[in-house]
Amino acid sequence: MIYQRSSALFAEAKKYIPGGVNSPVRAFKAVGGDPIFVKEAKGAYLYDEDGNRLIDYIASWGPLILGHAYEPVINAVIEKAKKGTSFGMPTEIETELAKLAVSMVPNIDKIRFVNSGTEACMSAVRLARGFTGKDKIIKFAGCYHGHSDSFLIQAGSGAVTFGSPNSPGVTQGTAKDTLLADYNDLASVKALVDANQDEISAVIIEPVAGNMGCIIPADEFINGLRTLCTQNSILLIFDEVMTGFRLGKGGAQEALGIDADILCFGKVIGGGLPVGAFAARNEIMSHLAPEGPVYQAGTLSGNPLAMSAGLAMLTELNNKPEIFESLADKTEHLHEGFVNVLDKKGIPYQINRLGSMISLHFTEEPVVDFASSAKGNNDTFKKYFHGMLEKGIYLPPSAFESYFLNDALSYGDLDETIGALDELNF
Ligand SMILES: *Cc1c(COP(=O)(O)O)cnc(C)c1O
Repeated sequence: MIYQRSSALFAEAKKYIPGGVNSPVRAFKAVGGDPIFVKEAKGAYLYDEDGNRLIDYIASWGPLILGHAYEPVINAVIEKAKKGTSFGMPTEIETELAKLAVSMVPNIDKIRFVNSGTEACMSAVRLARGFTGKDKIIKFAGCYHGHSDSFLIQAGSGAVTFGSPNSPGVTQGTAKDTLLADYNDLASVKALVDANQDEISAVIIEPVAGNMGCIIPADEFINGLRTLCTQNSILLIFDEVMTGFRLGKGGAQEALGIDADILCFGKVIGGGLPVGAFAARNEIMSHLAPEGPVYQAGTLSGNPLAMSAGLAMLTELNNKPEIFESLADKTEHLHEGFVNVLDKKGIPYQINRLGSMISLHFTEEPVVDFASSAKGNNDTFKKYFHGMLEKGIYLPPSAFESYFLNDALSYGDLDETIGALDELNF
Protein backbone atom coordinates (compact mmCIF):
# COMPACT_ATOMS: atom_id res chain seq x y z
CA MET A 1 0.00 0.00 0.00
CA ILE A 2 1.07 3.57 -0.63
CA TYR A 3 1.03 6.17 2.10
CA GLN A 4 2.48 9.11 0.18
CA ARG A 5 -0.19 11.69 0.94
CA SER A 6 -0.32 10.66 4.63
CA SER A 7 3.42 11.20 4.91
CA ALA A 8 3.18 14.61 3.23
CA LEU A 9 0.34 15.65 5.54
CA PHE A 10 2.36 14.47 8.53
CA ALA A 11 5.36 16.56 7.45
CA GLU A 12 3.10 19.61 7.19
CA ALA A 13 1.42 18.87 10.55
CA LYS A 14 4.80 18.66 12.28
CA LYS A 15 5.46 22.28 11.35
CA TYR A 16 2.52 23.52 13.40
CA ILE A 17 1.63 20.81 15.94
CA PRO A 18 4.21 19.31 18.33
CA GLY A 19 5.17 15.95 16.83
CA GLY A 20 2.43 16.46 14.25
CA VAL A 21 -0.27 14.96 16.48
CA ASN A 22 -2.64 16.00 19.23
CA SER A 23 -2.11 12.82 21.27
CA PRO A 24 1.31 11.12 21.37
CA VAL A 25 0.48 7.47 20.65
CA ARG A 26 -0.91 8.46 17.24
CA ALA A 27 2.60 9.35 16.08
CA PHE A 28 3.77 5.71 15.57
CA LYS A 29 6.87 6.29 17.72
CA ALA A 30 6.64 2.79 19.21
CA VAL A 31 6.46 1.10 15.82
CA GLY A 32 8.35 3.49 13.54
CA GLY A 33 7.19 5.05 10.28
CA ASP A 34 4.69 7.82 9.59
CA PRO A 35 1.15 7.79 10.93
CA ILE A 36 -1.77 7.40 8.56
CA PHE A 37 -4.10 10.33 7.98
CA VAL A 38 -7.77 9.39 7.87
CA LYS A 39 -10.14 10.95 5.38
CA GLU A 40 -13.33 9.25 6.46
CA ALA A 41 -14.65 6.05 7.97
CA LYS A 42 -17.77 3.94 7.84
CA GLY A 43 -18.64 0.81 9.81
CA ALA A 44 -15.50 -1.26 10.37
CA TYR A 45 -13.46 0.54 7.71
CA LEU A 46 -11.13 3.51 7.67
CA TYR A 47 -10.43 5.26 4.36
CA ASP A 48 -7.15 7.13 4.40
CA GLU A 49 -5.90 10.12 2.44
CA ASP A 50 -4.14 7.84 -0.08
CA GLY A 51 -7.35 5.99 -0.88
CA ASN A 52 -6.49 2.83 1.08
CA ARG A 53 -9.21 0.92 2.93
CA LEU A 54 -8.19 -0.38 6.34
CA ILE A 55 -10.05 -2.77 8.65
CA ASP A 56 -10.06 -0.89 11.94
CA TYR A 57 -9.32 -2.57 15.29
CA ILE A 58 -9.09 0.67 17.26
CA ALA A 59 -12.43 2.39 16.63
CA SER A 60 -11.11 5.72 17.95
CA TRP A 61 -9.57 3.84 20.92
CA GLY A 62 -12.87 2.40 22.03
CA PRO A 63 -15.80 4.81 21.72
CA LEU A 64 -17.15 3.51 18.40
CA ILE A 65 -18.33 0.14 19.65
CA LEU A 66 -20.97 0.01 16.91
CA GLY A 67 -18.60 1.10 14.15
CA HIS A 68 -17.78 4.40 12.47
CA ALA A 69 -20.46 6.92 11.46
CA TYR A 70 -23.17 4.80 13.09
CA GLU A 71 -26.39 6.28 11.76
CA PRO A 72 -28.52 6.69 14.90
CA VAL A 73 -25.63 8.54 16.56
CA ILE A 74 -24.79 10.69 13.53
CA ASN A 75 -28.43 11.63 12.98
CA ALA A 76 -28.92 12.55 16.63
CA VAL A 77 -25.86 14.82 16.48
CA ILE A 78 -26.96 16.50 13.23
CA GLU A 79 -30.45 17.22 14.54
CA LYS A 80 -29.10 18.59 17.83
CA ALA A 81 -26.43 20.74 16.18
CA LYS A 82 -29.13 22.65 14.27
CA LYS A 83 -30.56 23.81 17.60
CA GLY A 84 -27.32 25.15 19.06
CA THR A 85 -24.26 23.36 20.37
CA SER A 86 -23.78 24.77 23.86
CA PHE A 87 -25.62 27.10 26.21
CA GLY A 88 -23.86 26.90 29.56
CA MET A 89 -27.33 26.33 30.98
CA PRO A 90 -29.13 23.14 31.97
CA THR A 91 -30.80 21.06 29.26
CA GLU A 92 -33.24 18.16 29.52
CA ILE A 93 -31.02 15.77 27.56
CA GLU A 94 -28.40 15.80 30.36
CA THR A 95 -30.96 14.25 32.71
CA GLU A 96 -32.03 11.77 30.04
CA LEU A 97 -28.49 10.48 29.57
CA ALA A 98 -27.84 10.50 33.34
CA LYS A 99 -31.05 8.54 34.01
CA LEU A 100 -30.21 5.96 31.34
CA ALA A 101 -26.61 5.53 32.51
CA VAL A 102 -27.71 5.16 36.15
CA SER A 103 -30.26 2.51 35.09
CA MET A 104 -27.65 0.50 33.17
CA VAL A 105 -24.79 0.57 35.67
CA PRO A 106 -25.09 -1.28 39.01
CA ASN A 107 -24.51 0.50 42.26
CA ILE A 108 -24.68 4.19 41.27
CA ASP A 109 -27.27 6.83 42.12
CA LYS A 110 -25.87 9.91 40.43
CA ILE A 111 -23.48 10.79 37.64
CA ARG A 112 -21.61 13.99 36.66
CA PHE A 113 -20.61 14.59 33.03
CA VAL A 114 -17.23 16.01 32.02
CA ASN A 115 -15.38 16.20 28.69
CA SER A 116 -12.82 13.39 28.82
CA GLY A 117 -11.71 10.30 30.67
CA THR A 118 -8.82 12.29 32.09
CA GLU A 119 -11.19 14.76 33.69
CA ALA A 120 -13.36 11.95 35.01
CA CYS A 121 -10.46 10.22 36.80
CA MET A 122 -8.96 13.46 38.08
CA SER A 123 -12.32 14.55 39.51
CA ALA A 124 -13.07 11.11 40.97
CA VAL A 125 -9.84 11.25 42.97
CA ARG A 126 -10.59 14.76 44.22
CA LEU A 127 -14.04 13.58 45.30
CA ALA A 128 -12.53 10.56 47.07
CA ARG A 129 -10.10 12.84 48.92
CA GLY A 130 -12.87 15.26 49.84
CA PHE A 131 -15.13 12.46 51.03
CA THR A 132 -12.54 10.60 53.12
CA GLY A 133 -10.44 13.57 54.27
CA LYS A 134 -7.28 11.63 53.32
CA ASP A 135 -4.66 12.65 50.73
CA LYS A 136 -2.92 9.61 49.28
CA ILE A 137 -4.03 7.29 46.51
CA ILE A 138 -2.78 3.93 45.28
CA LYS A 139 -2.53 3.24 41.57
CA PHE A 140 -1.11 0.28 39.67
CA ALA A 141 1.96 0.26 37.45
CA GLY A 142 0.85 0.16 33.83
CA CYS A 143 -2.70 1.39 34.47
CA TYR A 144 -3.57 4.60 32.63
CA HIS A 145 -6.04 7.05 34.10
CA GLY A 146 -5.50 9.99 31.79
CA HIS A 147 -2.74 12.56 31.90
CA SER A 148 -3.48 14.57 35.04
CA ASP A 149 -0.51 15.10 37.38
CA SER A 150 -1.42 12.55 40.08
CA PHE A 151 -1.41 9.67 37.60
CA LEU A 152 1.86 10.28 35.77
CA ILE A 153 3.88 8.55 38.42
CA GLN A 154 6.17 5.56 38.24
CA ALA A 155 7.75 3.39 40.91
CA GLY A 156 10.56 4.61 43.11
CA SER A 157 13.25 2.21 44.30
CA GLY A 158 11.06 -0.03 46.43
CA ALA A 159 7.38 -0.92 46.53
CA VAL A 160 6.77 1.01 49.73
CA THR A 161 8.52 4.21 48.69
CA PHE A 162 6.85 7.27 47.28
CA GLY A 163 6.38 7.45 43.55
CA SER A 164 8.55 9.66 41.39
CA PRO A 165 7.10 11.61 38.46
CA ASN A 166 7.55 10.13 34.98
CA SER A 167 6.94 13.39 33.20
CA PRO A 168 8.78 16.67 33.73
CA GLY A 169 6.30 19.18 35.08
CA VAL A 170 4.80 16.85 37.68
CA THR A 171 5.99 18.10 41.05
CA GLN A 172 7.48 15.96 43.81
CA GLY A 173 4.72 17.34 46.01
CA THR A 174 2.09 15.73 43.82
CA ALA A 175 4.08 12.55 43.29
CA LYS A 176 4.43 11.84 46.98
CA ASP A 177 0.67 11.34 47.31
CA THR A 178 0.51 8.66 44.63
CA LEU A 179 1.65 5.20 45.74
CA LEU A 180 2.37 2.52 43.20
CA ALA A 181 1.34 -1.14 43.45
CA ASP A 182 1.62 -4.07 41.04
CA TYR A 183 -1.40 -5.37 39.17
CA ASN A 184 -2.62 -8.80 40.27
CA ASP A 185 -0.41 -8.55 43.37
CA LEU A 186 -2.57 -8.04 46.46
CA ALA A 187 0.44 -8.23 48.75
CA SER A 188 1.91 -5.12 47.09
CA VAL A 189 -1.30 -3.23 47.92
CA LYS A 190 -1.41 -4.56 51.49
CA ALA A 191 2.17 -3.41 52.08
CA LEU A 192 1.28 0.14 51.00
CA VAL A 193 -1.88 0.18 53.11
CA ASP A 194 0.04 -1.04 56.17
CA ALA A 195 2.81 1.52 55.69
CA ASN A 196 0.34 4.40 55.24
CA GLN A 197 -2.35 3.72 57.82
CA ASP A 198 -5.26 6.23 57.73
CA GLU A 199 -3.63 8.20 54.91
CA ILE A 200 -5.04 6.50 51.82
CA SER A 201 -8.26 7.88 50.37
CA ALA A 202 -8.64 5.63 47.36
CA VAL A 203 -7.32 2.81 45.25
CA ILE A 204 -7.85 3.49 41.54
CA ILE A 205 -7.69 0.61 39.09
CA GLU A 206 -8.61 -0.40 35.57
CA PRO A 207 -10.81 -3.35 36.63
CA VAL A 208 -9.78 -5.07 33.41
CA ALA A 209 -6.59 -3.37 32.30
CA GLY A 210 -6.37 -2.21 28.72
CA ASN A 211 -3.36 0.08 28.72
CA MET A 212 -0.62 -2.54 29.10
CA GLY A 213 -2.30 -4.86 26.67
CA CYS A 214 -5.46 -6.47 27.99
CA ILE A 215 -4.89 -7.87 31.47
CA ILE A 216 -7.55 -9.72 33.40
CA PRO A 217 -7.60 -9.44 37.19
CA ALA A 218 -7.35 -12.73 39.07
CA ASP A 219 -10.46 -13.42 41.20
CA GLU A 220 -8.52 -13.44 44.49
CA PHE A 221 -6.82 -10.19 43.55
CA ILE A 222 -9.89 -8.15 42.68
CA ASN A 223 -12.04 -9.64 45.48
CA GLY A 224 -9.18 -9.16 47.93
CA LEU A 225 -8.82 -5.56 46.84
CA ARG A 226 -12.51 -4.91 47.52
CA THR A 227 -12.22 -6.42 51.01
CA LEU A 228 -8.98 -4.60 51.81
CA CYS A 229 -10.50 -1.24 50.81
CA THR A 230 -13.64 -1.83 52.88
CA GLN A 231 -11.63 -2.89 55.95
CA ASN A 232 -9.48 0.25 55.77
CA SER A 233 -12.16 2.83 54.82
CA ILE A 234 -10.50 3.30 51.45
CA LEU A 235 -12.69 4.02 48.44
CA LEU A 236 -12.31 1.66 45.49
CA ILE A 237 -12.38 3.57 42.20
CA PHE A 238 -13.01 1.54 39.06
CA ASP A 239 -11.72 3.42 36.05
CA GLU A 240 -14.22 2.05 33.54
CA VAL A 241 -13.29 4.50 30.80
CA MET A 242 -12.42 1.50 28.64
CA THR A 243 -14.61 -1.25 30.13
CA GLY A 244 -17.76 0.80 30.75
CA PHE A 245 -20.58 -0.01 28.28
CA ARG A 246 -18.13 -2.38 26.53
CA LEU A 247 -17.96 -5.47 28.75
CA GLY A 248 -21.74 -5.31 29.09
CA LYS A 249 -24.40 -2.79 30.11
CA GLY A 250 -22.98 -2.76 33.62
CA GLY A 251 -19.32 -2.77 32.56
CA ALA A 252 -16.63 -4.44 34.64
CA GLN A 253 -18.63 -4.25 37.87
CA GLU A 254 -21.19 -6.55 36.28
CA ALA A 255 -18.65 -8.72 34.44
CA LEU A 256 -16.56 -9.30 37.60
CA GLY A 257 -19.43 -9.23 40.10
CA ILE A 258 -17.80 -6.54 42.24
CA ASP A 259 -19.17 -3.20 43.44
CA ALA A 260 -16.78 -0.27 43.35
CA ASP A 261 -17.33 2.99 45.25
CA ILE A 262 -16.69 5.48 42.46
CA LEU A 263 -16.78 4.78 38.73
CA CYS A 264 -15.12 6.69 35.90
CA PHE A 265 -16.42 6.64 32.35
CA GLY A 266 -15.34 7.94 28.96
CA LYS A 267 -15.02 6.57 25.43
CA VAL A 268 -18.28 4.63 24.69
CA ILE A 269 -20.42 6.92 26.88
CA GLY A 270 -19.77 9.77 24.43
CA GLY A 271 -20.51 7.81 21.27
CA GLY A 272 -17.46 9.39 19.60
CA LEU A 273 -17.85 12.90 20.98
CA PRO A 274 -15.83 14.20 23.95
CA VAL A 275 -17.62 12.93 27.05
CA GLY A 276 -16.40 11.57 30.34
CA ALA A 277 -18.31 10.98 33.55
CA PHE A 278 -17.91 9.87 37.12
CA ALA A 279 -20.56 8.32 39.28
CA ALA A 280 -21.21 6.91 42.74
CA ARG A 281 -23.91 6.37 45.30
CA ASN A 282 -25.69 9.42 46.82
CA GLU A 283 -23.64 9.42 50.02
CA ILE A 284 -20.49 10.15 47.99
CA MET A 285 -21.91 12.26 45.15
CA SER A 286 -23.58 14.65 47.61
CA HIS A 287 -20.08 15.92 48.45
CA LEU A 288 -19.78 17.40 44.97
CA ALA A 289 -20.42 21.11 44.23
CA PRO A 290 -22.94 22.66 44.24
CA GLU A 291 -24.49 20.13 46.64
CA GLY A 292 -21.28 19.77 48.63
CA PRO A 293 -17.86 21.41 48.98
CA VAL A 294 -15.74 19.41 46.47
CA TYR A 295 -15.36 21.71 43.46
CA GLN A 296 -15.61 20.54 39.87
CA ALA A 297 -16.93 22.39 36.81
CA GLY A 298 -16.84 22.68 33.01
CA THR A 299 -17.93 25.27 30.43
CA LEU A 300 -18.82 22.64 27.85
CA SER A 301 -19.68 19.81 30.26
CA GLY A 302 -22.96 18.13 29.34
CA ASN A 303 -23.30 20.16 26.13
CA PRO A 304 -26.25 19.03 24.01
CA LEU A 305 -24.15 17.86 21.07
CA ALA A 306 -22.06 15.49 23.18
CA MET A 307 -25.09 14.37 25.20
CA SER A 308 -27.06 13.55 22.04
CA ALA A 309 -24.25 11.28 20.80
CA GLY A 310 -23.98 9.57 24.18
CA LEU A 311 -27.73 9.17 24.50
CA ALA A 312 -28.07 7.65 21.03
CA MET A 313 -25.19 5.26 21.74
CA LEU A 314 -26.36 4.09 25.18
CA THR A 315 -29.95 3.79 23.94
CA GLU A 316 -28.79 1.36 21.24
CA LEU A 317 -26.75 -0.67 23.73
CA ASN A 318 -29.57 -0.69 26.27
CA ASN A 319 -32.17 -1.81 23.73
CA LYS A 320 -29.94 -4.39 22.06
CA PRO A 321 -27.83 -5.96 24.82
CA GLU A 322 -27.20 -8.92 22.49
CA ILE A 323 -24.58 -6.64 20.90
CA PHE A 324 -22.22 -7.46 23.79
CA GLU A 325 -22.62 -11.21 23.12
CA SER A 326 -22.12 -10.70 19.42
CA LEU A 327 -18.94 -8.69 20.02
CA ALA A 328 -17.57 -11.24 22.47
CA ASP A 329 -18.27 -14.03 19.93
CA LYS A 330 -16.46 -12.11 17.20
CA THR A 331 -13.51 -11.50 19.48
CA GLU A 332 -13.40 -15.20 20.36
CA HIS A 333 -13.41 -16.04 16.64
CA LEU A 334 -10.43 -13.75 16.10
CA HIS A 335 -8.71 -15.26 19.13
CA GLU A 336 -9.15 -18.83 17.89
CA GLY A 337 -8.01 -17.90 14.39
CA PHE A 338 -4.89 -16.23 15.76
CA VAL A 339 -4.13 -19.23 17.98
CA ASN A 340 -4.30 -21.59 15.00
CA VAL A 341 -1.99 -19.44 12.90
CA LEU A 342 0.52 -18.62 15.63
CA ASP A 343 0.76 -22.21 16.88
CA LYS A 344 1.60 -23.25 13.32
CA LYS A 345 4.28 -20.57 13.07
CA GLY A 346 5.82 -21.67 16.34
CA ILE A 347 6.59 -18.20 17.72
CA PRO A 348 6.10 -17.57 21.44
CA TYR A 349 2.97 -15.58 22.17
CA GLN A 350 0.23 -14.91 24.71
CA ILE A 351 -3.29 -13.78 23.97
CA ASN A 352 -5.36 -12.17 26.71
CA ARG A 353 -9.07 -11.65 26.15
CA LEU A 354 -12.20 -10.70 28.03
CA GLY A 355 -15.39 -9.88 26.13
CA SER A 356 -14.41 -7.60 23.26
CA MET A 357 -11.02 -6.66 24.71
CA ILE A 358 -8.07 -8.65 23.38
CA SER A 359 -4.30 -8.28 23.06
CA LEU A 360 -1.48 -10.30 21.56
CA HIS A 361 1.93 -10.38 23.28
CA PHE A 362 5.09 -11.89 21.83
CA THR A 363 6.40 -13.54 24.99
CA GLU A 364 6.52 -17.00 26.54
CA GLU A 365 5.35 -15.93 29.98
CA PRO A 366 1.75 -15.26 30.97
CA VAL A 367 1.06 -11.51 30.87
CA VAL A 368 -0.46 -10.55 34.23
CA ASP A 369 1.02 -7.14 35.04
CA PHE A 370 3.15 -4.34 33.63
CA ALA A 371 6.47 -6.15 34.11
CA SER A 372 5.35 -9.26 32.23
CA SER A 373 3.72 -7.14 29.52
CA ALA A 374 6.95 -5.17 29.08
CA LYS A 375 8.81 -8.43 28.35
CA GLY A 376 7.04 -8.74 24.99
CA ASN A 377 9.42 -8.73 22.02
CA ASN A 378 9.05 -5.30 20.46
CA ASP A 379 10.90 -6.16 17.25
CA THR A 380 8.44 -8.95 16.57
CA PHE A 381 5.59 -6.59 17.43
CA LYS A 382 6.86 -4.00 14.92
CA LYS A 383 7.05 -6.63 12.16
CA TYR A 384 3.57 -7.78 13.05
CA PHE A 385 2.14 -4.25 13.13
CA HIS A 386 3.66 -3.13 9.82
CA GLY A 387 3.03 -6.49 8.16
CA MET A 388 -0.66 -6.33 9.04
CA LEU A 389 -0.88 -2.68 8.02
CA GLU A 390 0.59 -3.55 4.64
CA LYS A 391 -2.35 -5.96 4.23
CA GLY A 392 -4.92 -3.34 5.20
CA ILE A 393 -5.37 -4.24 8.88
CA TYR A 394 -5.13 -1.32 11.29
CA LEU A 395 -4.03 -2.41 14.78
CA PRO A 396 -3.03 -0.24 17.75
CA PRO A 397 0.47 1.13 17.02
CA SER A 398 1.82 0.02 20.41
CA ALA A 399 2.23 -3.34 22.10
CA PHE A 400 0.73 -1.84 25.26
CA GLU A 401 -2.75 -1.34 23.85
CA SER A 402 -5.77 -3.55 23.83
CA TYR A 403 -7.71 -3.90 20.55
CA PHE A 404 -11.18 -2.43 20.48
CA LEU A 405 -13.48 -4.54 18.37
CA ASN A 406 -16.61 -2.94 16.99
CA ASP A 407 -19.83 -4.64 16.01
CA ALA A 408 -19.58 -3.50 12.39
CA LEU A 409 -16.75 -6.02 11.89
CA SER A 410 -18.07 -8.98 9.90
CA TYR A 411 -16.82 -12.56 10.14
CA GLY A 412 -15.43 -11.94 6.65
CA ASP A 413 -13.34 -9.06 8.03
CA LEU A 414 -12.13 -11.24 10.89
CA ASP A 415 -11.17 -14.05 8.52
CA GLU A 416 -9.36 -11.55 6.29
CA THR A 417 -7.43 -10.44 9.39
CA ILE A 418 -6.58 -14.02 10.38
CA GLY A 419 -5.53 -14.69 6.76
CA ALA A 420 -3.26 -11.63 6.81
CA LEU A 421 -1.55 -12.94 9.94
CA ASP A 422 -1.14 -16.34 8.27
CA GLU A 423 0.74 -14.74 5.36
CA LEU A 424 3.16 -12.83 7.60
CA ASN A 425 6.79 -13.79 7.85
CA PHE A 426 8.22 -13.02 11.27
C1 LIG B 1 -8.56 6.42 27.58
C2 LIG B 1 -8.49 6.23 29.03
C3 LIG B 1 -8.48 7.32 29.91
C4 LIG B 1 -8.35 8.74 29.46
O1 LIG B 1 -9.44 9.17 28.73
P1 LIG B 1 -9.25 10.46 27.77
O2 LIG B 1 -10.63 10.69 27.24
O3 LIG B 1 -8.25 10.07 26.74
O4 LIG B 1 -8.79 11.57 28.62
C5 LIG B 1 -8.54 7.05 31.26
N1 LIG B 1 -8.62 5.80 31.73
C6 LIG B 1 -8.62 4.74 30.90
C7 LIG B 1 -8.73 3.36 31.48
C8 LIG B 1 -8.53 4.91 29.53
O5 LIG B 1 -8.50 3.84 28.73
